[in-house]
Formats: sequence, C-alpha cells, structure tokens
Amino acid sequence: MRIDLHTHSTASDGTDTPAELVATAVAAGLDVIALTDHDTTAGWAEAVDAVPAGVRLIRGAEFSCTAPDGRGGHISVHLLGYLFDPASEALMAEQARLREERRVRLHTMAQRMAADGFPVDPDALLDDLPQHASAGRPHLARALVSAGVVGSVDEAFRRYLVTGGRYYTGRADTDVSAAVRMVRAAGGVPVLAHAMARRRGPVVGPGVIDELAAEGLAGVEVDHPDHTGEDRAALRDLAAALDLLTTGSSDYHGANKTAYLGQETTDPEALERIEELAARSCIAAVGG
Ligand code: AMP
Ligand code: FE
Ligand code: FE
Ligand code: ZN
Repeated sequence: MRIDLHTHSTASDGTDTPAELVATAVAAGLDVIALTDHDTTAGWAEAVDAVPAGVRLIRGAEFSCTAPDGRGGHISVHLLGYLFDPASEALMAEQARLREERRVRLHTMAQRMAADGFPVDPDALLDDLPQHASAGRPHLARALVSAGVVGSVDEAFRRYLVTGGRYYTGRADTDVSAAVRMVRAAGGVPVLAHAMARRRGPVVGPGVIDELAAEGLAGVEVDHPDHTGEDRAALRDLAAALDLLTTGSSDYHGANKTAYLGQETTDPEALERIEELAARSCIAAVGG
C-alpha cells in the first residue's frame, strides 16, 4: 500500500487542480492520498468527486503557525491537520483569518515590487485566485516567471521572495499550541510538518516538540524531501521517545516544486493510527 499524506492543489499554492492531483496520484500508483492545502478546505469537494474506486482520499489541511524560538522571537512552523470536522466554527474562522492575512500580505509584497519597477500587478495577482483559495509567495513567483523576470519559481524565491529578504512581508500566523488544540477540538489529528526543513530558515528544537506532544500533537512528518538523513533519524528517535506517530510525504506542489507524488510515503500502521485517533474523537464527541 502506497500512502502520501501531504499534497497541495490550486486551492493553495500547488499547480494541479484537485481533480488533476487525484488523477496524478492514481497514475503514480498511490492507494491513499491526503489533500493538505494551506489554510483551506476549498479543494476537498472537487477531490472527493474525482477519487476512483480503490483509492482513498484523506481530507486535511496545513495550518500556518508560529512557535517561540526560545530567544524571545518566533519561527514559522506548519501543522498538518487530518480528518478534522469542517463544521468546526473555530477552525473555519481561523482558516478564513489566515487566508485574509495571506491576501493582504501577498498584495503588500507585490506592491513593494511594483514600486521598485517590477512588472507585477498586485490587484490582478489576487483577482486571478479561485475563491477560498490561499494566496502564497508561489503565486507571486509564478507571476515573475510569466513576466520573464526570472526563469523559475525557485529562482524567484532565491532572488526576491526569500524569508527576511527585501520584499518579504510577514503575516500573523496561529500560535502552534493553539492550532494543535483547535485541530484536536475539531476531532482532527495534528501532525507537525517538515519540522527539520532547515533550508526554509530556523527550525524548532526538541523542547518545542516535547511541549506540543503534551498539548495533543499526534505525530511528526519524518520523511520529507527537505529533511536530511541525519535529521530524519533524530526525529524518528524523538518520536519514539514521545510516542508520536511518524509520517512520510512528498509535499507535492505540482510544477511549483520538484517533489513528485509518492516520493516519500507513510507506513500503513501510521495511517491506521491517524484514523483510529480521528474515530475515537468522533465517539468522544457523540458520547459527550
Ligand atoms: P508563503 O506561505 O506565502 O509564506 O510561501 C511559502 C510557500 O512557498 C511554501 O509553502 C512552499 O510551498 C513555497 N516555497 C518556499 N520556498 C520555495 C522554493 N524555493 N521554490 C518553490 N516553492 C517554495
Ligand atoms: Fe506551499
Ligand atoms: Fe509546509
Ligand atoms: Zn505543504
């Protein structure tokens, strides 16, 4: 059984529509795929409709969060949430707030580039996004590719969009402990995404993961394209010590990144644990 639990569609910063993503997953021989767009569930319905018999779709999302860096500052972390209740008002309100943050912030970044003479139109950039989709730097990167400013999304990031760079603008993301509790309260299963992806910037220490485990974190994404072998081994040891489940996933973004579907995979036992935890919380909710 081949399982990939972290992918993005055009509902956020991927380039495949949800239906195309499902078709690509089928072609790649995957049996289970999770759709985890940033801060939105907008792709779920189309993906569900596209799933053929014999393939399973796990509904999820990736939440934009911050964690204390231990030195008085904050670092960006991503939290995957699986099988949460989309009727959870708290979670939906927080996703809506994050999407608005994303729009305002991307508009600001584009405006600052336009003011410096780059051929980007901030309003058109946002108007072109589907409703309830999450705006992200990859959308601005693609606009720069289309305008011929750079040759690739990766080059756009390296030259203009990198975190802390000239045009980088921050965003008020969710405190990661609060996000863990919110996903749990909505019956979902929180898993920390790419915790050791050092090329994106500073990463959390083991102390933060320890604290999150006490708050209800269920697992950590160990096998991820941005993780070194050494970091995977350390994360696996930490997960064993804290009784956290471990996942492996591609973090597929279509043409926006080089990762392909099924590049990293999750063990069936880990998926079973995720489904058990989600089911148990349903029973708890029904039982009061
Ligand atoms: P944002 O959420 O707007 O801050 O943008 C971060 C997103 O950009 C991540 O979710 C990645 O999908 C993407 N990203 C970051 N670095 C790169 C890169 N070098 N090439 C392509 N995509 C990237
Ligand atoms: Fe992304
Ligand atoms: Fe992420
Ligand atoms: Zn992701």
